[in-house]
Amino acid sequence: MSLTSPTALCLLLSGYGALALSGHFWHITDLHWDPHYNMSNDPKSVCPSSGSQAVHNAGRWGDYLCDSPWDLINSSIYTMRHILPDPDFILWTGDDTPHVPNEELGEEKVLDIIANLTHILQEVFPDTKVYSAMGNHDFHPKSQLPAGENPGYIRTAELWERWLESSSVETFRKGAYYTERLLNKTGQRMIVLNTNLYYNNNNLTVDLQDPADQFKWLEEVLTSAAASKEKVYIIGHVPPGFFEKKRHTSWFRGRFNERYLEIIRKHHPVIAGQFFGHQHTDTFHMFYNNSGSPISAMFLAPGITPWKTTLSGVKNGANNPGIRVFEYDHTTLLIKDIVTYYLNLTHANLAGPRWEKEYRLTESFRVPDASARSMHEVLRQMETDDCALQRHYRFNSVSYDLSHCDWACRADHVCSIREVDFSSYEKCVVTEGVTLLSLAPVLLLLPATLSWDPMM
Ligand SMILES: [Zn+2]
Ligand SMILES: [Zn+2]
Repeated sequence: MSLTSPTALCLLLSGYGALALSGHFWHITDLHWDPHYNMSNDPKSVCPSSGSQAVHNAGRWGDYLCDSPWDLINSSIYTMRHILPDPDFILWTGDDTPHVPNEELGEEKVLDIIANLTHILQEVFPDTKVYSAMGNHDFHPKSQLPAGENPGYIRTAELWERWLESSSVETFRKGAYYTERLLNKTGQRMIVLNTNLYYNNNNLTVDLQDPADQFKWLEEVLTSAAASKEKVYIIGHVPPGFFEKKRHTSWFRGRFNERYLEIIRKHHPVIAGQFFGHQHTDTFHMFYNNSGSPISAMFLAPGITPWKTTLSGVKNGANNPGIRVFEYDHTTLLIKDIVTYYLNLTHANLAGPRWEKEYRLTESFRVPDASARSMHEVLRQMETDDCALQRHYRFNSVSYDLSHCDWACRADHVCSIREVDFSSYEKCVVTEGVTLLSLAPVLLLLPATLSWDPMM
């Protein structure tokens, strides 16, 4: 192998990543603990989170139709300690409660679930700083997070007191967002957002321009970060842009999506990474400047819950439980690599839990790091190389769905990664459709595996 070959370059660069300049942190999200999960022989009594679906042969570590049993939560957190016992910090981006109707939860139960998960993290990582964002399921009633002070924010801030500086408690009580210097270091900053305020299911913010003044605050924090020559990470729960498993499905209201995108475009030089959850899938979103150059990447981490989404139109939307480590540069906050670990739930229920490395970004996509430029290259590979697309598709469900990603599926994934902006996304899916139609005569000559399902 020549030293100038891509493989040699990868090896050299990943070797460099192991030097002292690198740090590590965990990102976990969407634990969705179902306290009533049990291995009942009655398929209707296994877990409230399966709704009316019958759960046959439920196993100890969970079921794809259910949210997480405690054993799965426990196994995930202790596996984190086993793999990387002393991370620099942990990102935890919300959604702790099961997918059940509001009537089955209530404010006390929601807080009790958040408290239990907070407790296990503090018990297993007693000396680790956790940056924690609220999810739309961490409030009663779900998704209705208010744009001002309320008992839900105040009591959650109390639960997270050990992780929050006093200045953070102040903004958290007001809007469940905060910023701190990253690990109290000069030149580095963490911004924790409450993007549930922008969620299109949140009826409390429908008429507001800037709920809880979070956008104004965010702009001020980013402006002052630039003046102080800081680099920042942004974390939150609900992401802007589109869901790759259901066409035309976005989470933010339009004007909030626009404003978020505008802020990232304006302040990108200080932003070293964005980390979100909510979708339970493993993917990313790209941000570009007006001349089309990549300026930022948002990493969406897979969920710990395996729960198959009931969102109509999504086919077989479950996933294996996933957890991930980011390797980053201590000085610049550049994301150097991402390693995702997962539990094959079917196998776990048959033979016991065996967490395994699913993939390392730089190995699977032959990029030098996880910078915006490198993530743009990953997207380019997905667009042009069917093997890269299939690899991404397998990782997207944490190696649960091993089926073929067809042309419609390709457009769903490529467009949701490339276009956060609403109208650009709509143009993208049309363009990919046109590409498909122009290839129709060729497709007719190919084997049936390249079929297109227009209803996806
Ligand atoms: Zn969730
Ligand atoms: Zn969510």
